[in-house]
Amino acid sequence: MPYWICCNSCFNLPGPECQLAVASCGHVICNVCFQKGKQGECMICKAKCQVTPLSDKSSAEVKALFSDVNSVATKHFTEISKVLLFQARHQKRLLVHYQKRNEKLEEVLLKMKQEIQQMSKTITAQNAYIAKLESTLQHQRAENIEVDGRGLFRKPEISGSVQRLSISPPQDGCVINMKGDRELVSSTGRSRCLLQRTTGGGR
Ligand SMILES: [Zn+2]
Ligand SMILES: [Zn+2]
Repeated sequence: MPYWICCNSCFNLPGPECQLAVASCGHVICNVCFQKGKQGECMICKAKCQVTPLSDKSSAEVKALFSDVNSVATKHFTEISKVLLFQARHQKRLLVHYQKRNEKLEEVLLKMKQEIQQMSKTITAQNAYIAKLESTLQHQRAENIEVDGRGLFRKPEISGSVQRLSISPPQDGCVINMKGDRELVSSTGRSRCLLQRTTGGGR
């Protein structure tokens, strides 16, 4: 029996002559003091309460109040430790899953970035091709106007050659391949392209 358990009135320790009981108010009283008090009332706090002898037959709730704190703590810490380990294992499993998923998403992101880079290159090449086409068209228009001014008899020859002009589009979206026997320089002098006068259309 722990050292602190004694009668709350006379402070005698439990023994053959001092049987302890616990009241529902929480006070501990010995059989001698209990006899001095009123029936159904705690002689210390005067509250109306029931008194139960303190013994091995006491309820689990009462026993728990008098149990060894160290063993209660050990029991609870063991239980807490078990729960923590169980939960940590599941949390770790979920974390690994998220990490793997994250790695996969990063791979997808990298591929998408590379595709975007490739697309940008293609767009740049296509824009350059369009610029060359526009430049060529301007030159051809200028040439037609010039020819129209010289005379009607030469018109069919020039217009016929214009209709047969062709420019190769960018191959694989990045290389501009142009072959021909005539070179045209744009008005700014920066962009040049070779035009092919095709007769059969083949290259
Ligand atoms: Zn007492
Ligand atoms: Zn009391």
